[in-house]
Amino acid sequence: MPSDPFTPGIAAGRLPAAEIAANFSDLHAPLDDHAALVAADRCYFCYDAPCMTACPTSIDIPLFIRQIATGTPEAAARTILSQNILGGMCARVCPTETLCEEVCVREVAEGKPVLIGQLQRYATDRLMKQRKHPFSRASNSGKRVAVVGAGPAGLAAAHRLAMKGHSVTLFDARSKGGGLNEFGIAAYKTPGGFAQAELDWLLGIGGIAVDYGKRLGGDMTLAGLQDAFDAVFLGIGLGGVNALAMDGGNRDGVVDAVDWIGAMRQSADKLDIPVGRNVVVIGGGMTAVDAAVQSKLLGAETVTMAYRRDKAAMAASGFEQDLAASKGVRILYNMAPKALTADGIVLVRTETRGGKLVETGETMTLSADQVLRAIGQTLAGAPDVLALAGGKIKVDAVGRSSVAGVWAGGDCASGGEDLTVTAVAEGRDAAEDIHAHLMQ
Ligand SMILES: Cc1cc2nc3c(=O)[nH]c(=O)nc-3n(C[C@H](O)[C@H](O)[C@H](O)COP(=O)(O)OP(=O)(O)OC[C@H]3O[C@@H](n4cnc5c(N)ncnc54)[C@H](O)[C@@H]3O)c2cc1C
Ligand code: SF4
Repeated sequence: MPSDPFTPGIAAGRLPAAEIAANFSDLHAPLDDHAALVAADRCYFCYDAPCMTACPTSIDIPLFIRQIATGTPEAAARTILSQNILGGMCARVCPTETLCEEVCVREVAEGKPVLIGQLQRYATDRLMKQRKHPFSRASNSGKRVAVVGAGPAGLAAAHRLAMKGHSVTLFDARSKGGGLNEFGIAAYKTPGGFAQAELDWLLGIGGIAVDYGKRLGGDMTLAGLQDAFDAVFLGIGLGGVNALAMDGGNRDGVVDAVDWIGAMRQSADKLDIPVGRNVVVIGGGMTAVDAAVQSKLLGAETVTMAYRRDKAAMAASGFEQDLAASKGVRILYNMAPKALTADGIVLVRTETRGGKLVETGETMTLSADQVLRAIGQTLAGAPDVLALAGGKIKVDAVGRSSVAGVWAGGDCASGGEDLTVTAVAEGRDAAEDIHAHLMQ
């Protein structure tokens, strides 16, 4: 019997297998041919389309929707993938409600946007089912590029570089590629092993050798890579976690939400994932929502998200907050963690005074046998020689770091939002700049 008062309430298999399977099925059912035509028909094919400007990868959205409307979804997919090679994943995980669909003129006029994300999924799924890779490589340039990190940024960079004719070696510390597509994104957004299927499909371009289980800073050094390759791209994400400043915050039953989600994503059977009866999630971003929703879907009886600021400041979008509420998650705003006691977690109320967040002194205690910490990730393992900005690798607009011949992009690099689509855009743009540099 564990001595910690929190752990006894954590158990696997809280729901019958069929219920778990239903809970973790696709968040949005894919559009069929008829639904896709109806959805495409709502597009005004705007000139200077705001949706396209809002897309970090600048996909020509009116063009691809027109291609769907005219019965050529494979051409639509090529339009998407030429800008965003992970267009299939982004169609599933992009917070479209705060990007393209937020500014769609039909959203602005009628409160109902064109279903851009779902149309993108319809087109890319159609093309990927054909198994044939839609792009081919330029002739061999004789140049070699090391890409470190096989997450969205590294994959987008590797693909673009391979397409340009360079020989790419893709390293990753883990035994599997995909980064957070494989280990982080909520299971109900990418069911059916989509992350690995998309990765295998992407490698179909050729010219990319994968070398997994190789950690920069352990198995290899930046100087070594610079000697062996003509250029280096770093897409190592944010591997560190912020510490939770709370009495008792290191005890059993308090786990990092990203680790917990990663273990769940890798488990062969979700019935094996232990979850508390009363779960409290600390944080207000996408990770917090994902951890909270998935705890509920695994059968936790009560799940509460405690966020120290107000609703408007929350990083999770309105859609994500509504999703959490629809699954039975309670969200407490302006409540910060204070201590873990034998009775549960003590939260203290906060308010903003003179632009500063302060504790009011009013507290509440919630029963909690599992506490998931989702208070942000930090850069870990970046080579010391690289200059940092805001705790990330300092890069310019095209991803050049402070060290010549080394580029970086995605979550580990300064600037930009920490989203899959932003990582793809930064990896792609750095690859274009590496290509220009190598071919000078
Ligand atoms: C729980 C969670 C849910 C999310 N949900 C969404 C969502 O729904 N929609 C969305 O748009 N965004 C979401 N995000 C954000 C999104 O996943 C990231 O912005 C995106 O994955 C960043 O891509 P990246 O390639 O920069 O880094 P990562 O995906 O983190 O990939 C980095 C890769 O580098 C490898 N690596 C790290 N250090 C080293 C090293 N020293 N040597 C070698 N390899 C190394 C890692 O193993 C990893 O494979 C979520 C994030 C989290 C944590
Ligand atoms: S803003 Fe909306 S209606 Fe206009 S092109 Fe984009 S998706 Fe179509």
